[in-house]
Amino acid sequence: MQNESNRKIFRKLVSVKEACRAVELMKETVKPEVEEIPITDALNRVLAEDIYSSCDIPPFDRAAMDGYAVRAEDTFFADEENPAILKVVGEVETGEKPEVEVGRGEAVRISTGAMMPPNANAVVMVEYTSENESGYVEVYRGVAPGENVIAAGSDVMAGELIARKHTVISAREAGMLAAVGIGKVKVYRKPEVAIISTGNELCEWGRALEAGKIYDVNSATLSLAVEECGGVVTYRKTVRDDWDSMVEAVEEALNKAEVVIMSGGTSAGEGDIVYRVLEKMGNVIVHGIAVKPGKPAVFAVIREKPVFGLPGYPTSAFMIFDKFVAPLIRYLSGRKEVRSKSVKANLAVRVVSPHGRREFHPVCLVRGESGYSAYPLTGNYSAMVSKLYQADGFIEIGEDVTILEPGEVEVTLFSTLKPSELVVIGSHCIGVDLLVKLASVDAKIINAGSTGGLLAVKRGEADIAGTHLLDESGEYNLPAMKKLGLKNAVLIKGYLREQGLIVGKGNPKGIEWFDDMLREDVRVINRNPGSGTRVLMDMHLKKIAGERGKGFDEIVKRINGYSVEAKTHTAVAVAVLTGKADVGLGIKSVADLYGLDFIPVRAEEYDFAVRKDRLEKGAVKKFVETLKSEDFARELEAIGMKVWERTGEVIEL
Ligand code: AMP
Ligand code: MG
Repeated sequence: MQNESNRKIFRKLVSVKEACRAVELMKETVKPEVEEIPITDALNRVLAEDIYSSCDIPPFDRAAMDGYAVRAEDTFFADEENPAILKVVGEVETGEKPEVEVGRGEAVRISTGAMMPPNANAVVMVEYTSENESGYVEVYRGVAPGENVIAAGSDVMAGELIARKHTVISAREAGMLAAVGIGKVKVYRKPEVAIISTGNELCEWGRALEAGKIYDVNSATLSLAVEECGGVVTYRKTVRDDWDSMVEAVEEALNKAEVVIMSGGTSAGEGDIVYRVLEKMGNVIVHGIAVKPGKPAVFAVIREKPVFGLPGYPTSAFMIFDKFVAPLIRYLSGRKEVRSKSVKANLAVRVVSPHGRREFHPVCLVRGESGYSAYPLTGNYSAMVSKLYQADGFIEIGEDVTILEPGEVEVTLFSTLKPSELVVIGSHCIGVDLLVKLASVDAKIINAGSTGGLLAVKRGEADIAGTHLLDESGEYNLPAMKKLGLKNAVLIKGYLREQGLIVGKGNPKGIEWFDDMLREDVRVINRNPGSGTRVLMDMHLKKIAGERGKGFDEIVKRINGYSVEAKTHTAVAVAVLTGKADVGLGIKSVADLYGLDFIPVRAEEYDFAVRKDRLEKGAVKKFVETLKSEDFARELEAIGMKVWERTGEVIEL
């Protein structure tokens, strides 16, 4: 039954183009509205009219300096030796109408900004004059006609267009409008938007999380995103996946807003009722878009108001908002459709993309020797908040492309690129986060694995790579750097991470060593090939094979779960925590984090490859100094790792 309805719901995925058209159609039902407000309240509001100046600025010829208004020709030949001597016939202060004219051989005392008296055409700066007690002024320097005078209309002429419709009003626009005496402006009314998060699992911010609950991310992201587009959130609610509460919330939202944005509950699962609620209340025009992330989006019109059901995953919700909802809110707030800024970049690694869906794949950008490199987010990025936070923009992958090979791509930026002081690419470790924090440098940290990090250093994209590659010889990192030809880098010894067997709390299976992995009642979780942990595991298994006079293949075949690969230490710990496996090799800090038991195997050397040409860079120096600091040593121990006698040692290849 459920399957049947699933099929019905997603029978017709619409293309991205069709979904955009649906949004265009919604623009027929809601229109931008205009209101008049004081200029001092108009920050970030959008002008709904072209504004022309009704007067000149300045409105009269005006002195640019304190001094004497004169007829320029009376001063032409004046200098220190032969000053022009003029009779002072009066004075003009700012804000008053001159009472005197300037005749031949006369001058009038004048203040900056005051109106020029009739027949004067220049101002002599007070510094080049001296007035005597008998009412004459000596002028030591000649002035040309117009000198030190700001002519009427020279700034703005009456009738000139001074601000265009659709301009976003900032402090500078306000000044311009005030200068021509405009105190009130017609602006677009901020579109009122309602935000509803759905899901039984959602917990309010600031409350303690109960088991099975998560904090509501989308209400926050969407509220700010709506405001960025010029909208105002007039209703916000979190509701359970329950028919009546949802109908009630949508009713309230429609009463309080002109656009409703919901998130969660849009797919075809048992508890996902958003689609059905919207269909019951109005007209669903889109359900399911051939896009990644965000396929299960719903667009509806209820009581002539657009209602969007965004997918629950924060990245999906954000991307669908950005592509389809933001243009509508911008339209209503009078903003011109912004062409997002984009940059060309080199895709650093290949991306696999689903067939038949357009993908907006988030990427991190770093600057290398030959322009930008784009690192695509990996894993189930749409479920991860931190990923979106780290990304700089996204690349668009066409419906019929399933594998995008490294090469030139166009990256649409989320906002302006902020260059980081330091780029660290490599294997992720919380010790690196700690180093960056203590060094207080603004760093971009990209998780691309040890080898990915070393290659990024080689290409100049990263200043530093964090690496823990164990060679078959038993040596860490140096052999790998040599193999990869990192001649332009040095190795700086880092710290020790204790590697060991992660087992359940209290070690329920009584696991002691690698031999136990061969037991029939033990399930193992392995790591991906190429990881140092995998090499370490295989070294031990080879030893066992040797001792038993068996082949390596024969040994691993007997291990239950050898072919199950986790990509991170954390994933290993989670597999053990959730009972999917009884044992896996990983680092102690992660075992501690999850309250699991740990059997030490050996200390792994987590080191840094650093580009030689970056060693003198301020942020790199701070990073290396911090690595050798006592603060770091102390705080590192607290998270289950430690520095050793080689920490900070620099090795040339
Ligand atoms: P759904 O679309 O309801 O199936 O949700 C998909 C995933 O997104 C689930 O893991 C939800 O827990 C999660 N999710 C849904 N709404 C939110 C939200 N407002 N904030 C954070 N995660 C959410
Ligand atoms: Mg849900």
